[in-house]
Amino acid sequence: MAATTTLTNEQKNNHANKASLLESTQTVIHEALTKLGYKEETHELLKEPLRMLTVRIPVKMDDGSVKVFTGYRAQHCDAVGPTKGGVRFHPEVTEEEVKALSIWMSLKCGIVDLPYGGGKGGIICDPREMSFPEIERLSRGYVRAISQIVGPTKDIPAPDVFTNSQIMAWMMDEYSRIREFDSPGFITGKPLILGGSHGRETATARGVVICIEEAAKRKGIDVKGAKVVVQGFGNAGGYLAKFMHDSGAKVIGISDAYGALYNEDGLDIEDLLDCRDSFGTVTNQFKNTISNKELLELPCDILVPAAISNQITIDNAHRINAKVVVEAANGPTTLEATRILAERDILLVPDVLASAGGVTVSYFEWVQNNLGYYWTEEEVLTKLRDVIVKSFANVYDTAQQRNVNMRLAAYMVGVRKMAEASHLRGWI
Ligand code: NAD
Repeated sequence: MAATTTLTNEQKNNHANKASLLESTQTVIHEALTKLGYKEETHELLKEPLRMLTVRIPVKMDDGSVKVFTGYRAQHCDAVGPTKGGVRFHPEVTEEEVKALSIWMSLKCGIVDLPYGGGKGGIICDPREMSFPEIERLSRGYVRAISQIVGPTKDIPAPDVFTNSQIMAWMMDEYSRIREFDSPGFITGKPLILGGSHGRETATARGVVICIEEAAKRKGIDVKGAKVVVQGFGNAGGYLAKFMHDSGAKVIGISDAYGALYNEDGLDIEDLLDCRDSFGTVTNQFKNTISNKELLELPCDILVPAAISNQITIDNAHRINAKVVVEAANGPTTLEATRILAERDILLVPDVLASAGGVTVSYFEWVQNNLGYYWTEEEVLTKLRDVIVKSFANVYDTAQQRNVNMRLAAYMVGVRKMAEASHLRGWI
């Protein structure tokens, strides 16, 4: 008898949102390829991952029972080189989401010009409700299940939502056991002592900050004293707020899943970071909070959505009161809202460019593993700055020359390398 799964309304909305993220990604890729003059068959090849593996992972739980988890690994396009992308542990992981995220990874790698295509993985689970030994057994089981299609020259995983350097260490150890050799280049985001790179943990936020500086230059905004609003206070939002604060900007608003804090004279970011918990929650310790909706509409110079998708939509895009929006989160602005912001002359720096700092330093980690020679933090940060500044200029100039918004320009830059490599290989 077939098992029936009953989804709550919230879960149904979540699935619909993720399906629409995939559709909107495919729409922009189509538009980008058409603008670049590629034929329909190129879109047909690149609109979905080349490979999508679904695995079932049995895990012995601490109480002696066995729970079977579902996981995915998507490899969008390996025409340029091995695929690369994180593994997400989350109860709301869906196949559509993993597919969309693998395509975004391809775009990011194309934009920052890395010798990779995009990949992504995910397991439907809630690590917040599992013990460390259960998480370790799940991580090792996932590697055993996907081991045939991954490897340092095939597909290189990394951390993502609710996975960290310890999980990467377990995964690397499991892979090394299967292959019977030490393979630090199999995975990135490892602890430093196991071949991780300096600067990896803060790389996404640093990349966003560099994009903010570059956007501010183009808009004639002085970062010193600029009013900044950040939605989300986790890994990306927390470091970003700190770096902006350190560079003399005034961070006037921050938020988490439960509300937002606002102070026109600037918030005490160091203090807020000190009282934040490990899930990026801080607002529950304050009385005078505002809503996330109000936060997004605050008058400011720079707005950074750094939390979840679908935050700037057709409903609030007319009321966004910022000069520049820099997307640290994946997919925070819908396509309709992107058009409205462009019409209102608000410069939007898209996620595939703004949050590419993480994969860039992951690439540096892989290079260092392959060389067996390790760089200082200063060397890593200098190289990261060079890559992001150059990539920003490339996307910005493409937008100006082609008279398109920055999202479409970023997709045009990102997809071109994959399309050309697929063509040169004789696939299309
Ligand atoms: P995180 O889990 O560390 O933090 C998420 C933050 O968002 C928390 O403060 C949480 O309270 C808040 N949040 C959750 N739901 C919210 C809601 N409904 N409204 C407002 N705030 C909410 O996650 P992170 O690693 O900082 O990632 C944030 C975003 O940045 C995600 O979209 C992620 O995909 C993207 N991103 C992160 C990285 C990275 O290296 N961390 C890299 C690329 C992209």
